[in-house]
Amino acid sequence: MKKIINEMNISFKAISVNESFARACVASFCVQTKANIDEITDIKTAVSEAVTNCVVHAYPNHDGMVNISVKLFKDCVEIIISDSGVGIKNIEQALEPFYTSKPNEERSGMGFTIMESFMDALEVSSNSQGGLNVRLVKFFSKANKMAVGE
Ligand code: ATP
Ligand code: MG
Repeated sequence: MKKIINEMNISFKAISVNESFARACVASFCVQTKANIDEITDIKTAVSEAVTNCVVHAYPNHDGMVNISVKLFKDCVEIIISDSGVGIKNIEQALEPFYTSKPNEERSGMGFTIMESFMDALEVSSNSQGGLNVRLVKFFSKANKMAVGE
């Protein structure tokens, strides 16, 4: 088990005004790490896509919450974005590029593909509340380079 250097949790209502809040909050927490600006930008992009999915898809019939848990390690960050909404029946299909359940609402079906390409790991699973857990990991290239000379 890798040592957790720092961690935090936030919960907020799944409404679009909170997309930029969540992105900024996670990014400012990651500033204390060895992540460079490009890596922070990648993290912001991926978090935005995951939170937007909670806002757009998780709660079609009622209000609900989004939880984000962030764990910082020496060489990487792990971010878990969860909701307790409707979840996804066929996760494999949802992960395919261009798959969207809302083709008539100007969705391109690229959210998960963007998360996967901007991060080093993406895992999507159902949680015990019936909603979705999206786990994202990003490694810091500077941390690896420093380790050689340290
Ligand atoms: P885009 O992200 O390009 O606007 P999209 O949101 O439809 O389009 P993805 O982000 O790749 O595309 O998500 C694929 C599908 O997975 C969605 O259309 C939706 O059916 C489902 N989905 C994603 N996140 C959730 C979630 N949190 N709860 C329920 N369903 C979800
Ligand atoms: Mg999406």
